[in-house]
Amino acid sequence: MKYFIGNWKMFGIPKSINILNRINSFYSKDKNKNKYKVVITPPYTLIETYSRHFRNKKINIGSQNCYQLDQYSSNTAAVSSYMLKSVGAKYTLVGHSDNRNEGDTDIILNNKVKFALKNNLKVVFCIGENKIQKNNKKTFSVLTRQLTKVLEKKFNKNNIVVAYEPIWAIGTGKIPTFKELSKTIEHIKKVLKKIFKSKSPEVLYGGSVDGSNIGMFREIKQIDGFLIGGASKSSKKFIDIIKNYYR
Ligand code: PEP
Repeated sequence: MKYFIGNWKMFGIPKSINILNRINSFYSKDKNKNKYKVVITPPYTLIETYSRHFRNKKINIGSQNCYQLDQYSSNTAAVSSYMLKSVGAKYTLVGHSDNRNEGDTDIILNNKVKFALKNNLKVVFCIGENKIQKNNKKTFSVLTRQLTKVLEKKFNKNNIVVAYEPIWAIGTGKIPTFKELSKTIEHIKKVLKKIFKSKSPEVLYGGSVDGSNIGMFREIKQIDGFLIGGASKSSKKFIDIIKNYYR
């Protein structure tokens, strides 16, 4: 099963649901629909209405983040996994580089994953190196640290998906080469296998994916799906990615 996950970031108002309605009508008629899952992570403000609207449909609604504590706390503006689950979220991203930049440490991320799983959300755990780390050939060691400091063997790996998102590729139009990416995905799966002492969870790629470069990514069979930012805000661009993937 492949994943196509759209991360809307700070985008969307109630009527933006039209974008998802168009994706849903494409999906319901697509002959390949049993081969993939669609997840969209709108901002917090839209999770409840969108989840209700798509309750019996195949589009899954998730959150872009969750707080590091269980249930309730006195932290202003914080939203916990417990609260997200109660309004219908099925997934949550954890560790997006935007949130790491705003202070998410490995310890915080470990708590976020723990409480998201406890509250029955599926976790899309994001990792990735920055440009300097890449240039200094530190990619593998950075990714190994990000994975081993946060994920634990006791976590239910069936509810975890890892998204490899090189920071230098996010929103820049730059993407890794076939060789770089194949090797990196292989490395990530090796580390995950070690952590869980069994088969690796699914590993996705994210960073400037669009309808014109998806063909190259398709050739890397170990990639289990995609986390899509910019192109997920347009139904046409998002659908083009799926169409071209199964072409
Ligand atoms: C993202 O921010 O998760 C992302 C993948 O963005 P983009 O597709 O725009 O590079």
